[in-house]
Amino acid sequence: MSVTALGRFRAVFLGAPGAGKGTQAKQLVGSQSVLHISTGDMLREHVGQDTELGRKAKSYMDSGQLVPDDLIIAMVQDRLDRPDADQSWILDGFPRTVPQAMALDSCLGEERGLSHVLYFRVPSEKLVERLAGRQTCSSCGAIWNRFSKPTQQEGVCDLCGGTLTQREDDKPEAVTKRLEVYTAQTEPLLAHYRDQGVLVEIDADRSSELVFEELLNALSQDA
Ligand code: AMP
Repeated sequence: MSVTALGRFRAVFLGAPGAGKGTQAKQLVGSQSVLHISTGDMLREHVGQDTELGRKAKSYMDSGQLVPDDLIIAMVQDRLDRPDADQSWILDGFPRTVPQAMALDSCLGEERGLSHVLYFRVPSEKLVERLAGRQTCSSCGAIWNRFSKPTQQEGVCDLCGGTLTQREDDKPEAVTKRLEVYTAQTEPLLAHYRDQGVLVEIDADRSSELVFEELLNALSQDA
């Protein structure tokens, strides 16, 4: 299945932190013109630029809690209102609560509703290792893992030579909190989207190449 063969889609990537949503989204976006709307990346940019939203969001993010719904919903609505959002897009990390899912439903309306909701399923005991080992390149954003996808030289990106960093919220205390928050607040969305008939489960406890193949397959089928 080639990526260019895909029709237009409006997809949500669901799954626990560390399930590989961002890695898969980056691979998809690298191969065709698809918007990758990652609320985590957008918030980290706000924090980096010290905007008003960034200042409000930072303490929630660092401690592994969710940023309040009203702030996130406004940020995503604003993004989806921009003219380039008429192409295919992936929402990665949004929605994460039932109120966010309901706000998204009403923002999109009937005729530009979600085409696919992909659920990346990984056993919870694997997630901790994935998060604890995750390293992000501070220059190009590539994602590596000390255990499962190490770079040739420790701390240096194989792709661009940039320095690898560990996210503040991938440190142990925040990881435990994020997984708890996921179970309590985000897992209920599986039932929400199953009821709408758009949920597709992907076994994400495999190599990223196999997961990507299954993702392309899922996106090529009409929901
Ligand atoms: P992520 O990169 O998706 O793991 O997001 C990093 C952090 O940003 C999360 O732990 C939350 O603090 C915040 N965040 C990202 N997306 C959302 C969202 N949809 N709702 C609330 N907080 C979010």
